[in-house]
Amino acid sequence: MFEKSNNSFLFFTFVIIYSQGSDFMLKTEDILDEKDPRLRAKNEEVVFPLDKKDKKIIHDMLEHLYLSQIEEKAKKYNLRPGMGLAAPQLGINKRFFVVCYEEEENVFKNYVLINPKLISNSEELIYASGGEGCLSVNREVEGIVPRYARVTFEGYDENGNKVRYRAREELAIAFQHELDHLNGILFFDHIDPKDPYKNMEHMREI
Ligand SMILES: [Zn+2]
Repeated sequence: MFEKSNNSFLFFTFVIIYSQGSDFMLKTEDILDEKDPRLRAKNEEVVFPLDKKDKKIIHDMLEHLYLSQIEEKAKKYNLRPGMGLAAPQLGINKRFFVVCYEEEENVFKNYVLINPKLISNSEELIYASGGEGCLSVNREVEGIVPRYARVTFEGYDENGNKVRYRAREELAIAFQHELDHLNGILFFDHIDPKDPYKNMEHMREI
């Protein structure tokens, strides 16, 4: 009798944990579309310490980005591949973003940047071949976005520790793209539709 009720208790606990896990995973439909005004709203500086909810969101954002870059998981959960997400893309108007960057094959590094600042940059400009993408922009946009080839960012991690990252090439583009989100800017704002490849000859393609 005791054993039986104990088992059903365990089973019940398992069902709760399992269903919470799937309920709370950040899904594709939780990411705002480009037309949503919350992408253009002012974003407030984050006050430390973070509450549990914000820490959970950061975890879910990184999980989403990681899974989206693993082909079979992306297919299973219907995720568009992406390496960066900023809080306003989830309707949270706060100044933080995360990046999950594949440094080498199947080796991913997570970056959390809260209240980030671009503190230095190269003179050299680059652009992503084939243009930039954004999880909030569900269409092809023609044109190139000029970005610094190398950047240094400062900010805070989720525990309030000061962090400083130097980034180059693709990672540098991701940081600048995400910082733009915190200032209400979408990548295509940088593209002149009448001249989408403007100044291309003065930049390096990556
Ligand atoms: Zn974006």
